Amino acid sequence: MPAPVPFDPQDIANAKYEERPVREGVTTKRTICASCDIACSVVTESMKGRVVKVRSSDNPIFRDNICMKGIVAPKGFAHPSRILHPLKRVGERGSGKWEQVTWEEAMTDIGTRLKKIIAEHGPEAWAVSTSQWNTGTDHGLGRRIMNHVGSPNWISGVALCAGNTAAVSKFTYGWFPMGDFNNTKCIVLMGHNPRRHSWTPMYTYIRAAQARGAKLIVMDPRRSSSAERADIWLPLKVGSDAAMMFGWLKVIIDEELYDKDFVANWTIGFEDLKKRVDEFPLERVAKLTGCEPEMIAKAARMYATEGPSVIPWTPITDMQRNSTSGIRLQGILRSICGYIDVPGGETLQGFNPDIIPESDIEMHHVLSDEQKAKQLGSKNHPAFTYRGQAAFSEPMKRVYGREYSNIATGSYMATPSETFRAMAGEGEYPVKAFFFLGNNPLMSYANMPLILKAMMNQDLIVAHEQFMTPSAQLADYIMPADSWLERPLIHDMFAWLSTVRFSEKSMEPPGECKSTFEFWKHIAGALDRPELVPWDTLEDFYDYRVAATGMSFAELVKSTDVHFKMPEFRQYEKRGFATPSGKVELKSSVLESLGFDPLPYFREDPPEDKDYPLKMFTGVREDGFFQTAHRHIPEMRKRHPEPEAFLSPGTAGRLGLAEGDWVYVENKLGRIKAKLAIKDAMPDELVRVPHGWWKPEMQQGAGQLSGAHDYADAQLCRDDDDYLDLEQGIPHIKGIPCRVVPVTADAQVTTSSKARPVMEPAE
Ligand code: SF4
Repeated sequence: MPAPVPFDPQDIANAKYEERPVREGVTTKRTICASCDIACSVVTESMKGRVVKVRSSDNPIFRDNICMKGIVAPKGFAHPSRILHPLKRVGERGSGKWEQVTWEEAMTDIGTRLKKIIAEHGPEAWAVSTSQWNTGTDHGLGRRIMNHVGSPNWISGVALCAGNTAAVSKFTYGWFPMGDFNNTKCIVLMGHNPRRHSWTPMYTYIRAAQARGAKLIVMDPRRSSSAERADIWLPLKVGSDAAMMFGWLKVIIDEELYDKDFVANWTIGFEDLKKRVDEFPLERVAKLTGCEPEMIAKAARMYATEGPSVIPWTPITDMQRNSTSGIRLQGILRSICGYIDVPGGETLQGFNPDIIPESDIEMHHVLSDEQKAKQLGSKNHPAFTYRGQAAFSEPMKRVYGREYSNIATGSYMATPSETFRAMAGEGEYPVKAFFFLGNNPLMSYANMPLILKAMMNQDLIVAHEQFMTPSAQLADYIMPADSWLERPLIHDMFAWLSTVRFSEKSMEPPGECKSTFEFWKHIAGALDRPELVPWDTLEDFYDYRVAATGMSFAELVKSTDVHFKMPEFRQYEKRGFATPSGKVELKSSVLESLGFDPLPYFREDPPEDKDYPLKMFTGVREDGFFQTAHRHIPEMRKRHPEPEAFLSPGTAGRLGLAEGDWVYVENKLGRIKAKLAIKDAMPDELVRVPHGWWKPEMQQGAGQLSGAHDYADAQLCRDDDDYLDLEQGIPHIKGIPCRVVPVTADAQVTTSSKARPVMEPAE
C-alpha cells in the first residue's frame, strides 16, 4: 500500500526539507522505493552514474521510513543474474534454452503471434497479469491497450490484497478509506503486524500514534510483536475475522455506542443489519473465534468510545472465504461509529484534481459491453469485475466526477482462478496468450498446479522481468525490465489517495532494460496501434498527466515532495456517498442486485478432514523479502537462508519434531518443504507457511523451476469452491487444513538441532 502521507496539510507545510550538504562527485535524487508495495520516499546517492547508496528522505515527514530492502536495493539490481537483453526461447517451453535477440526482433514476432491468436480466438484470448504495486506502475497503459484491442482479461495480485478491498469498499460507501493516522485515537490491526523492516511507514505511524496516547487493539492468532504492544490482544482463531466483527457490532448496537445521527441520516439498512447482528450473541462469537466474551466486549467498547478510531487496510481479511463480508463489516463498523470522513477517522479522499489518474489512462469506456460481459469470473464471482462494478459508474461520476475509478487497480479485473482455468483449456473459452510484467504469477495466486498447466498450454507467453523467476522460465520471450532506480515515477497512490508523490530517475538502466512505458509503447506498435501510446517518452507522458498543475513533471518534482489538495472532511454532506442510494449501504443494494446476500454473513469452516488436522496460513513475508523477490541478494539470504515453517512448542512436541527439522507441509492440493522453527508465540495446531519461496541458485527449467516445486506455498493454496469467497472468487488462505510430517530420507536434511522453543514474537 502507498505510504500514508499525513493528511494535515499544515504538517506538510511545517516540514522543513533539510537537504544535506552536497558531497563532491555525489548526485542525490528524490526517489520512491519500489522494493515493496509501500512506496517510501527516499534519497539515492550516485557516483559516476551509478547509485551507490539509498538513504532516508531529507523531509522530516518521511525520515523514519526506510528498511533494509530499500537500503540494499542498488546491490540487488546490480546482481550479475539480472537480465540485461531480450531473450527468446529456442527449446521446448521450460527447457531453459534461450537466444539473445533485439527488442525489434522480439516485438515483431510478438506482434505477429498475438495478432494471429486474436484473429483465431478473439481478443479475450489475451490475458495479462501485473502487480503494479510491486513494481511502481505500468501506468494503466496495459489496460488501455487491452481495452482498445478488446480484452477484458487483466488480472493482478491485488485481487487478493488491497485491490479487492478497494472494489468491495465501494459497496458500502463508494470509495476506499484511508485512516487519518496523525489524529486518530485508536488503531485496530486485524492480523496485520507492521514492523521496522516490513510495512515500515505504517509501523512508524502506529508507534507515533501510541506515543501520543492512541490505543492499539490487535486481533491475531499469533502473539505478534504488535500484539505485545497492544492495549488489547484478541487471539482469535485463524480465518474468523468476520465473526469477531459481528461480536463487536453486537456490543456496539446493544449498548447504543454507535453514532445515532449518522446512522439515521446517512445510512440505509440499519434495522436489517441489526437483525443479522442479533444472530451473533457473544457466546456464539466466542465459540467461532476462540476468544473470551468479556475481551470481545472490552475491545468493541474501546473501538467505539475511545475514537475516532481507524481500522487500517489489512491483507489478512482480504484472503478469507468470508472476505467480502469481512471487508463490509469493517466498513460498517467505521460507518455506524461515525468515523467516516472525520479528522482522526477514515478519509474518503477521491481523485487529485490536478493529476490525470491511471483510471483515465486506462480508458475503460472504449471496451464494448459485449467484451466486458466476457470477462472471466464475472458470471460466478462478479464483485470486482466490470459486472460487479457497473452500478457504481453513475454514483462515481456524481460524487467524484469520473465514471471509472480503478482504485488500487482492483476494480474491473478478471478473476484469477477462472482466468487460469481458461488458459488451461478448462474455461468457457480459450485463452492462448499470456503476458506478465513485474509479476511471478506461477507463485503469486492460488493453485500453482493449475497455473503451471495453464502456462504450459499457451501459444505465446511474454514476460517483462528483471530476473529469471520460475514464471519467466516458462516464457517465450523475456524482455529486460528497468528498476525503480532507473526511471522517474508519478505515484498517484493508484487513485486511492489525493496525495501524489514523485520519483526522479537516479541512473540509466543497464544493458537493454526498458520501462513498462517503453514495453507497452512497443506492444502498441507491434499491434499496429501506435496511436494508443502517443507520447514519445515517459517524461512526455508525465508532463501530460500533470499539465493541470501548470508545471512540467521536472518542475513539479523539484517544487515539492507531495502534491495534494486541501483536505475537506464530511464531504458527503454536500454530495452524498458514491453508492446508488447516495448513503452508506449497510445493506448493499448492489450485492442484492447481483444475487448475493445484501447483508454480511459468516460461513463457518469447510468440513474437517481427519487426514489434515492442522490449520495453516500463508502470506507473511520475511523482513528481508517482498513477495517472491530478493532471494538472490546475499545480504538478505544470510538473514533467511531457508524457508521456515512455524509451529508452537506443544504441537511440535506432539508431532515429535524439533527446531531445525526439515518437514513437509501437505494438504489435498500439494506439499512444500520447509525448515521447522518452533515459536512460543504460535498457538497450538496452527502452521505458518513461508510465502513466495524459490531459490535462484537452484536448477532452472520445467520440473525444477529453481526450487519452486519444492518450496512455493501456492502449491498449498486451494481454489476449489469451499475455499473461495463467493462474491469475489478469491481463495481462503488463512485457515487451510494441512498436516506436517518429517522429511525423512531427503538429502537436504543435514542437521537437526534439539527442540529449542524461542520466545520472540511470531512474525
Ligand atoms: S518499506 Fe522498505 S522496501 Fe518498502 S518501500 Fe519502504 S524502504 Fe522500500
